[in-house]
Amino acid sequence: MKEQDFLNELKEIDLLQQALAILDWDAQTGMPDKASDYRSETVGYLYGKYFEKKVGPKISEALTYFGAHPEELSEVGAVALQLTKEEYELNHAVPNELMTEYSKATSLAQSAWQNAREKNDFSVYRDALAENIRLTKELIPYWKKEEATNYDVLLDQYEPKMTTEILDEVFAQVRDGIMAIRQELAEKGTEPETAFLSRKMTEGQQRKFVEKVIQDLGYDLTCGRLDTTIHPFATGINHKDVRLTTRWNETDFSMAVFGTIHEAGHGMYEQNIDEKFEYTPAHEGASMGIHESQSLFNEIIIGSNRQFWKKQYPFFQECAEGTFDDLEFDDFYKGLKRTQASLIRIEADTLTYVLHIIIRYEIEKMIFNGTASVDELPQIWNDKYEEYLGIRPENDLEGILQDVHWSGASFGYFPSYALGYMYAAQLLHAMQKEIAIDEVLASDDYSPIQNWLKTHIHQYGASRKPNQLILDATGESLNPQYLLDYLRGIYFDVYQIEE
Ligand code: ZN
Repeated sequence: MKEQDFLNELKEIDLLQQALAILDWDAQTGMPDKASDYRSETVGYLYGKYFEKKVGPKISEALTYFGAHPEELSEVGAVALQLTKEEYELNHAVPNELMTEYSKATSLAQSAWQNAREKNDFSVYRDALAENIRLTKELIPYWKKEEATNYDVLLDQYEPKMTTEILDEVFAQVRDGIMAIRQELAEKGTEPETAFLSRKMTEGQQRKFVEKVIQDLGYDLTCGRLDTTIHPFATGINHKDVRLTTRWNETDFSMAVFGTIHEAGHGMYEQNIDEKFEYTPAHEGASMGIHESQSLFNEIIIGSNRQFWKKQYPFFQECAEGTFDDLEFDDFYKGLKRTQASLIRIEADTLTYVLHIIIRYEIEKMIFNGTASVDELPQIWNDKYEEYLGIRPENDLEGILQDVHWSGASFGYFPSYALGYMYAAQLLHAMQKEIAIDEVLASDDYSPIQNWLKTHIHQYGASRKPNQLILDATGESLNPQYLLDYLRGIYFDVYQIEE
């Protein structure tokens, strides 16, 4: 077998994947409501072709042949082979019936979850969730590569090489650190005014502002676009076509502003992956956690920076056409960064967000490594909110029914969000040794920041593992202290506490 034959097969797989990604984007943005039956037939057909190829004879032949002749592969070919092998081995031992049962169960669980939300009643969802957990536990032995706990096997699918041994320690430190900061803010801080956050700003005014900001940050709109959806996302079709979506609320501009800045971070990552990896499995993010570190670098690092907002505020005022002309910059900035405990993860602020994730991590670990039963879960959920955030959900909708992840059996996914926070702060710390961030953000040219991220993270795509990327970029492995130092700095400033 020639390397070119292997790469051609990967290209055909990728072309099908690109078509599926555009169809999915279209279904979530512009597709007519009544088109869904025809659409699912098209998607089903293409997905069948795609899956057939991915586990097909050419791929297994390439794995065998190049496994024995690795010296015949170029750098890109070797990376592609490694990633193809990892994915192939993950599922090839799973019996077909079990896989079918699993995908049926998750699709049933999605509708059970939606019903339960409409009725605000966990018991409607209980059996479907139990089934997702049972089948996941049955799948774990097939997914397991080496000695590892059940939950480690799940973690590894979203963040390769991450373990509960590392996370237990890191999360305990972050949890205690954030709780201590919250305590100090409550005792010594001055609460900022936030009434201005609900002043009306039209969708057009918000769009004018965010389109300029994301381009300032480095998102290339000539290789992308920004559309409207209910659930915002970014999707990379190829590096010349990376699309963002957002949602607009005319009496809460911060939702679209921070949401779009966040998605643009995902988009910039995909736009900057080295072209040589195009059409291979390396042309995507290194992991969910690294991807999230890039969106969060935009949203919580740049988006919390006083100099950044000072520079952008006059243009923001101009876009709002008079609505904020009476508001001093300092009050605007402090109001943007107010913190308050909340029950809903996706509405959480920069300081409390990670606590929501740690709660989910601890519960998932109890399910897969411990003995927590499905019936106990709502109670455990509510108790943890009371313990860490000081507030208690009054019903399941504000509690355990809020997230879609478990209905898709995406157990082990949540920690990626918190890892993204920690990686982003650690990358900032390393970047600051070379770049005067405040000066750059006060200027008209943010490219030094973009170039740093491109050089150390973006260009590699999935060709390096997350732990290697972080080690190479920052000189050390995951260290949560940078996030705590960073949050303390931002919030002590906003809450006017002298250090
Ligand atoms: Zn994200």
